[in-house]
Amino acid sequence: MEPNIARIEPLVRQLLIELGEDPDREGLAKTPERVAKSLAFLTHGYRTELKTVINDALFTQDTGSMVIVKDIEVYSLCEHHLLPFYGRCHIGYIPDGKVFGVSKLARLVDMYARRLQLQERLTEQISEEIMHSIDAVGVGVMIEAQHLCMMMRGVEKQNSVMVTSSVLGVFRDQLATREEFLTLVGRRA
Ligand SMILES: [Zn+2]
Repeated sequence: MEPNIARIEPLVRQLLIELGEDPDREGLAKTPERVAKSLAFLTHGYRTELKTVINDALFTQDTGSMVIVKDIEVYSLCEHHLLPFYGRCHIGYIPDGKVFGVSKLARLVDMYARRLQLQERLTEQISEEIMHSIDAVGVGVMIEAQHLCMMMRGVEKQNSVMVTSSVLGVFRDQLATREEFLTLVGRRA
């Protein structure tokens, strides 16, 4: 269900008042509406159907070689603070007859990133979805991201990058496969 913009607006207006602002001053007059629309967009992953993401984007291909897609942009919101985290996602998989169109992998990442998230869960959801949707032999997903909730507040660790990975199938069972993935995405464990 689409979020009700008309109901979010007064909540944002009240939030501005609680923060000590005057919601009627010129610069803020349209802010509740903008914030409501922006939040609706930033959480559209809840309302994206997997079918429409993957639809017609699986190609039959007889290869057992590893497919690598690097540097997919990730923009998400941490569920603890509703502040952004952003970075890059690297995906590797070994197909068993079916491969993804590259743009669909990016849309799959977006479907899970455009929600309130934890980086660890996001990484796992992406790997499991790839594993199941094409019955892959194995999948590896790595996300490197910076969290504004860490950079702007609290410990203020401005340059720390959080790295998470999730490996399934042969990526989990075979050290050589996992190392090939890490080498190809440019990170050694
Ligand atoms: Zn946070």
